This record gives sequence, structure tokens and C-alpha cells, in this order.
Amino acid sequence: MSVSYFRKQIELNMATQTHDTLVEQRGQLLQALAGIGDLRQGSLRAQYRRCGKPNCHCAREDAQGHGPYWLLTWLDRKTGKSRGRTIPPGAVEQTQAQLAEHQRLRALVRELVEVSDRICDARLDANKPAAPEKRGDFTRRSRNRSRPRSST
Ligand SMILES: [Zn+2]
Repeated sequence: MSVSYFRKQIELNMATQTHDTLVEQRGQLLQALAGIGDLRQGSLRAQYRRCGKPNCHCAREDAQGHGPYWLLTWLDRKTGKSRGRTIPPGAVEQTQAQLAEHQRLRALVRELVEVSDRICDARLDANKPAAPEKRGDFTRRSRNRSRPRSST
């Protein structure tokens, strides 16, 4: 057995290991995806408003204004317009968790796509046909044959 043969075997083993590890990783990612809870897109920010009454404490120059009012804004992908709604103070924590869940989903999807890319690569590499060693075989195989056309 030549050195290149053993090198090839080692490469194949490594490719198989990598492939299996990647498939395992993908399984874990899919499990994590199945555990995704309530999520929503957008960003949440606190707003303070002046009511406009001249006697109110908010009318002072250095006053913060009334609030906080929690405003959730997001991009409506159908219309391309920014949308928003106020979130009641009691629902702020829950909304923050839903926004965080959306980020978690996005991270998981990114990772899943990455791992899937690598799985596809590993499969391509594992099925890589060995380079032809005999010229004779090569020329015989490369002879042109017209494929039968599929009748539709
Ligand atoms: Zn006021």
C-alpha cells in the first residue's frame, strides 16, 4: 500500500468523523429550534412625553416628561413600512423575552445553515470519485453516449 493510499484513508476517516459530528450538531440545533417559544420582531424603547399643560412638572426645561411609555417598533416586510405599538408596563419584561427569543431563533438558523453547508460539503468530498489511474479506463469511460431522452 502506498503512502498516498494511507493518506487517503486517513482523510476519508476524518471526513466521516467530521460528517457524523456535523450531523449530530444539526440534530441538536433542530432540537433547540423545536424549543423556540413566543417571539416577536422589532425593538423596544422607553419614551417620555410632555403633556403640554403649562403648570405640569413636565413643562420644566430639565424635566424628563411623563413615562416611560414603552414603544415597540418593527419593519413590516410586506409593506416595507415601519410599524409600532405601545407595550403596557406590565408586559415589558415579557416583550423583552419575546424579542430575545427572536434573536435566539435567528442565531440558531444561522448556525443551522452553516452546519448544513458543511454537511453538504462533507458529502460531496466523501463521494469524490478517485482520480483515474489508467489512461485506458479514462478514455473508455469518457466515450460519448447520447442519453435516452425522457418522453414527457
Ligand atoms: Zn405633564
